[in-house]
Amino acid sequence: MPSTTAANAFNHLRSTSYWKTWHVAGLLRGATFVFVLDLSTSVQYVKGIGPRTAETLATKGISTVEDLLYYLPFRYEDRLNPRGIGELRPGEMASVVAEVRTSGLFRTRAGPMFQLTVGQGHQTLKCLWFHGAYLKDRFKPGQLLAMYGKVEESKFGRRELQIIQPQFEVLHDPDEPAEDADSGKLKTLEIGRIVPIYETAGNGKLTSKYFRRVIYGALENLTDEIPDPIPPVTRSHVDLLERRAAFSKAHWPDEGESFTRLQSARSAAHIRLIFEELFFLELGLELKRRKMRAQAGIPFRVDDQVREAIKRILPFHPTAAQKRVLGEIVADMKQPSPMRRLLQGDVGSGKTIVAFEAAVIAIENGYQVALMAPTEILATQHYLSARRILEGAGYRIVLLTGSVEQDRKREIRRHIAQGNAQLVIGTHALIQEGVEFDALGLVIVDEQHRFGVMQRFKLMKKTDAAEPDVLVMTATPIPRTLALTLYGDLDVSILNELPPGRTPIVTRRVSDERADEVWAFVRKQIAAGHQAYIVYPVIEENEDAESGKQLKAAMKMYDELRKNVFADLRVGLLHGRMDSDDKDAVMRRFQAGDVQVLVSTTVIEVGVDVPNANIMVVEHAERFGLSQMHQLRGRIGRGSAKSFCVLMTGGKVSPEAEQRLDAMVSTNDGFQISELDLQLRGPGEFFGTKQAGMPDFRVANLLRDRELLELAKREAAYVTSGPHPDLSEAEIKNVLTHLRTHWNRRYGLVEVG
Ligand code: ADP
Ligand code: MG
Repeated sequence: MPSTTAANAFNHLRSTSYWKTWHVAGLLRGATFVFVLDLSTSVQYVKGIGPRTAETLATKGISTVEDLLYYLPFRYEDRLNPRGIGELRPGEMASVVAEVRTSGLFRTRAGPMFQLTVGQGHQTLKCLWFHGAYLKDRFKPGQLLAMYGKVEESKFGRRELQIIQPQFEVLHDPDEPAEDADSGKLKTLEIGRIVPIYETAGNGKLTSKYFRRVIYGALENLTDEIPDPIPPVTRSHVDLLERRAAFSKAHWPDEGESFTRLQSARSAAHIRLIFEELFFLELGLELKRRKMRAQAGIPFRVDDQVREAIKRILPFHPTAAQKRVLGEIVADMKQPSPMRRLLQGDVGSGKTIVAFEAAVIAIENGYQVALMAPTEILATQHYLSARRILEGAGYRIVLLTGSVEQDRKREIRRHIAQGNAQLVIGTHALIQEGVEFDALGLVIVDEQHRFGVMQRFKLMKKTDAAEPDVLVMTATPIPRTLALTLYGDLDVSILNELPPGRTPIVTRRVSDERADEVWAFVRKQIAAGHQAYIVYPVIEENEDAESGKQLKAAMKMYDELRKNVFADLRVGLLHGRMDSDDKDAVMRRFQAGDVQVLVSTTVIEVGVDVPNANIMVVEHAERFGLSQMHQLRGRIGRGSAKSFCVLMTGGKVSPEAEQRLDAMVSTNDGFQISELDLQLRGPGEFFGTKQAGMPDFRVANLLRDRELLELAKREAAYVTSGPHPDLSEAEIKNVLTHLRTHWNRRYGLVEVG
């Protein structure tokens, strides 16, 4: 019994008045009427939650008992064996439960320091917080605290012990109104066990302690009949804990449970809850994929004549990887069901030509192709290379972006609607402006990462004829398991080889105090006939609210470089706020070698391809994200000349920025980079969750739970491919019904028909 353990461990506390009350109350249970809850019951019927609190909880997404039970502790505290102050030894991590004696703020040379003295009987212990002014009114004498932290010897008194910045929680407040009859038992939730710690809610009014009580109460009154939506065969494959037990043990771990496993969400209870969430996600994706497969697509013909047409456009020998990927695409395109394929390839791996090859197949079959790019610059560049590569073969290509004049747009739209235009290249204007195709056969989405999944579907729905094939290309290599989820309904092809003749980019990091040397180096490369990018984090100055410091900005530096540093060179400026004719003009001049130094912002991040540019200088490199820097760097190293990336830092470099810069210097491998970026930022930020159409998880974490994700995917596939001898039709129906009623709303991504 936890209460007994606690009582034994705290004999020395028995003298306090609080302790007496606790024991008098004992484990008696009040004879109050108990409402039996099920998972769908509204939280306001949980003991301790009234209608007002229910409203507060609703803002946190907690409306039902089930929601409440999914509100898992974000960490646990080992209060199994709280220590008497007299037994503490310097150097150990310890939990201490003691009473507040005195507290106050005093000045030190290092700043204000908050000091708290707690006691058990005549023994006392000091706790210190540097810059602890915020704690000034936090403590009152007589409060009972649970504290956890590292015990140290005090610098001042001999033999005096202290804990610096302990984690703490107020267990009992002498001013609190009298507790109800259950209070004795509820107190045992606080110590003598591994204690769940919850995020507070309602501006701190709903404390961790509050959540312990109400969740404990909810579990106590929860009906025993909780159906398990996961089919028995899956449960036995994965060896899953039963659902009710999982809820209960995730909040209130068994005494023998490993603390480490709990902290890392790897207890059996956690695994069960996480698996369930991922299983239903994967099930939804699997169904969607099946539904897509069942739709009527276009079975493209790929015969000798088409193959000849492809060969005719190729300006170089494709790499083995390009051939393999084209093979995968061809196999899909021949199928009567629509292609949904993701092409991943690091920057510079040569995705464009593969896309053009696919386009040739569709066009040779009498269909139209739409190629969408995330920026006008990139769309324009694709248009220019499409004309270079495809127009010789007589294909009719048009460019449609937001900045095209109305009259011209109308004309282009007419061309598209009449089927004259065979390859339509554009930005999202293609989706937004009601473009109708005569016979759309293939949609290519370049640099998917910037688009978001949902837009992809909108464009696909433009036609009510057969579903066009879709090829999505991304230069942000996403770890496979994550691609399975983010693009769970897509098949994945990987271009894992760079075209021949590339020399690896040399990346160096320097402080901008050495700018002169850097400029001299740039000048030398240009004298050798090459071109340079110089990239800034902002367009104009005073844009950095964060540091209050001025960042060097593209416009100002353009002037500086053009007038002083590179006065004898042809310097161009490119940034997102320029109008698109000007952008175009600069880009064209850079492409033609007329502009030698291009000063720009991150607008060049995606896709820009000028092989003669072999040097990139990034100023304030400490301000850029890791994947972003890698994308930027991908603009160089595209030709046969050796390429250089100089990361200049200006000002303070945070520890995370250090890690990013180190990674950039030490590797050119996009997969490694995105893996590290994912770790540094977490999946939410990495993917830009909402925009990317990524679901919000309640317990799962894609980074931590990759293995479970793989497992969930396999099990989901087993279910949708049923029935099997150990999985009946009725069981499948059951699980699908649960998917519809419980998970559809949660994952917009998962549309279940
Ligand atoms: P990304 O995958 O980043 O979109 P691109 O398609 O822009 O890469 O290709 C990068 C550069 O490599 C381009 O200049 C392209 O012409 C060139 N390239 C692509 N494939 C080959 C190849 N097989 N042999 C030689 N050069 C190639
Ligand atoms: Mg590209």
